[in-house]
Amino acid sequence: MTGPASTPIHTPATEARYDAEILIIGSGAGGATTAALLAEAGFDVLVVEEGDWVEQGSVVSFSLEQMDRQYRSGGVTVALGLPSIAYTEGRCAGGGTEVNSGLYRRPPAELLERWRSQYHIRDLDPDEMYVIADEIESAINVTTVPGAVSAPSAVLRRGADALAWQNSESPRWMTYPPGGSASSGQRQSMTRTYLPRAQRAGARLLTQCRVRKLSISGTSASDADVVLADGSPGRIHFRHVFVCGGAIHTPALLQRSGLRERIGDTLAVHPTVKLAARFAEPINIPDDVPVHQVKEFAPEISFGGSASHPGLVALALADNWGEFSHALHEWERVCVYYAAITSEGKGRVKAIPGLRDPLVTYNLTARDKQLLRSGLSRLTLLMLAAGADEVYPSYHNAPVVRSSADIASLQRSFAATKATVMTVHLCSTVPIGEHPRCAAGSFGQVRGMRNVWVNDASMLPDAPGVNPQGSVMAFAIRNAQRFIETERPHG
Ligand SMILES: Cc1cc2nc3c(=O)[nH]c(=O)nc-3n(C[C@H](O)[C@H](O)[C@H](O)COP(=O)(O)OP(=O)(O)OC[C@H]3O[C@@H](n4cnc5c(N)ncnc54)[C@H](O)[C@@H]3O)c2cc1C
Repeated sequence: MTGPASTPIHTPATEARYDAEILIIGSGAGGATTAALLAEAGFDVLVVEEGDWVEQGSVVSFSLEQMDRQYRSGGVTVALGLPSIAYTEGRCAGGGTEVNSGLYRRPPAELLERWRSQYHIRDLDPDEMYVIADEIESAINVTTVPGAVSAPSAVLRRGADALAWQNSESPRWMTYPPGGSASSGQRQSMTRTYLPRAQRAGARLLTQCRVRKLSISGTSASDADVVLADGSPGRIHFRHVFVCGGAIHTPALLQRSGLRERIGDTLAVHPTVKLAARFAEPINIPDDVPVHQVKEFAPEISFGGSASHPGLVALALADNWGEFSHALHEWERVCVYYAAITSEGKGRVKAIPGLRDPLVTYNLTARDKQLLRSGLSRLTLLMLAAGADEVYPSYHNAPVVRSSADIASLQRSFAATKATVMTVHLCSTVPIGEHPRCAAGSFGQVRGMRNVWVNDASMLPDAPGVNPQGSVMAFAIRNAQRFIETERPHG
């Protein structure tokens, strides 16, 4: 199914104009679910998405073409700090759900309880959230791999079992053909699930359409200024707007529209450090990621596997290229793994007049930096326990680690400021709740605004400590349900 563009109601020479009862900005995990629920409830919904509709399988995973067509800025974006943190976002119909690893976790019960009490989120009921989670898991087919897990995944399980560390397979949103193997899955992203559902219920989708700003008067927004695929301007009139552009671009758009109070000041991420590990046998599967995660030290530290396309192996070796580059000749024997931490640091997103993209900054705390050191050391131990013959930690001038005796030298020489710190989990720039520090109410209504809502990763009160997409979708559906109850469609 392709994404049909919506036709303008009339097209004057200079500006296309559209009208919608509900405008949804962004078609990722938050926007697509919101669109499906509201369209199915009878609202007139228009979804606009800055990126293109790219049919799954039409581009090679991790290729330059994919980076160009489905990632923001070709996948090269950075939060400035000491160290800076490289981050990646999807920019296409379906947003991050089209390019991500598909690893699913429900929001843990203790997390929901903490968020409810700490941020005063009204009517946040774990039982209700788990009914929603059941629906999501069925809609996107959350399942474990058929048969044996892949060799890179088995590395994590083997190492953790040898150390008696808690580990488990994370299910994914995938379908597998009958008799299929671990690598034969098709990701049940938003372009295969909630977006077609929204379209079947009458929602219109306009791709390659970027919203520049909202027109706001008093407590109401009325129009969105947009740029269309051919660069021409357009205007969309709406009754309600749901901003679902992801944790960086939702606050940036709200700021460009004049809404600044508490917006964009509380960016939370899961920082990761990486290593490459070489094994005796070929284990690399270039177009897939491991499904095992090691949670012995969770939520502070979690371990998992990264994409290990040869280009990404080279990137993981680049911090000490002189010592490590020989491993690239044997990339089939090498895989990349990460240690992720829950960070106490905070970041900021700031829209800068005249610049298209916002300035993003992030400060790790001393405790965060210590956790990164400890995470990388333990991940190295895990690799050795799994049988790695050489481990290449990703920081400037890191040593090659061949035995547990070498880990002491890693611990001595590691500094977070020398490491390649990355993240793909960004959230919490417009946190919800009744607490005064929250930028939106308990159901996503932007503070002080009558008809502006956020319903994406921005709204999570802080970093969840688990893969976030399940939490984003569950909260987005909860908020959409509440909106439907309180704002029944006209007619
Ligand atoms: C490489 C990678 C791997 C990941 N792996 C996992 C995983 O295994 N499990 C997991 O749970 N999570 C994972 N994530 C995170 C997950 O994808 C995100 O948490 C989730 O997609 C966030 O949903 P969202 O709706 O907030 O934003 P997104 O899904 O990012 O969607 C936002 C959309 O809004 C559009 N947009 C932004 N601004 C505008 C504008 N002004 N006008 C029009 N459109 C706009 C963007 O183009 C984008 O398509 C991963 C992310 C990445 C990038």
